[in-house]
Parts: sequence; C-alpha cells; structure tokens
Amino acid sequence: MTQVQERYGLLAHMRSIKNGEGFEGPCPIHRGTKPDQFRVSVTKNCWNCFADCQRGGNVLDFVALMEGVDVRAAAVQINEWFKLGLAHASLHATLLGLSCHAISCQTTADRFWLSVARQTAL
Ligand SMILES: [Zn+2]
Repeated sequence: MTQVQERYGLLAHMRSIKNGEGFEGPCPIHRGTKPDQFRVSVTKNCWNCFADCQRGGNVLDFVALMEGVDVRAAAVQINEWFKLGLAHASLHATLLGLSCHAISCQTTADRFWLSVARQTAL
C-alpha cells in the first residue's frame, strides 16, 4: 500500500500515525481536504475513508477507485507500475487464487504482489 501511495505522490500529504503503523491525510479518492478523514494501515495493507466515501478496502480497491476501473484492470495497472513481471495470464490466474505457487517470492515487489493476490483471492 505504501508503494501505491508513493505512486500517487500521497505520502507528502499524509502524516504518520500509531508509531508508523499507519498514515492519515486528506482522502485522494473524493479529493477531500480534512487531514484526518482518510487512513491507511501499513500493517493491514488497507485503507479507509471516514468522510464522503464511507468505505475502505485493499490496494486493488484503492487503485480501482483512483483510476475509475474495475479491480482486475487495477491489478494489471499495479503489475505494470511496479514491473512485477507477471504475464496477464498468470495475473488472472493469481486473481482467481489458482497459481500463487507459480510466483517466486524473491523480491519485495513479488511479496507486495503476493499480498495483493492473497487479499484478492478472498
Ligand atoms: Zn473519501
């Protein structure tokens, strides 16, 4: 989630809370202004907007809302941004929870992606 926040240049507008376990700031989804309406949990890899959006979600939900696309398109986007190197076929299979073992866990990006895939497989 932190990598995605960086991608959107959000970290500069957010402050660390709970000893670095999370961030809070204005909501980038509905473009709010209150500094405490949007919270991200680094440990849980999820976010919540307590203002207009009245919802939360995982990394994929966040990118989907920011880009105005569905969750699957968001997964493809994340794959490209972070050069996770997953072929679209395995990306889709991963989304369906079928081939997690086919992915190597060697890099940070892979681990990040695996956490995304696990959340999505629910
Ligand atoms: Zn919001």
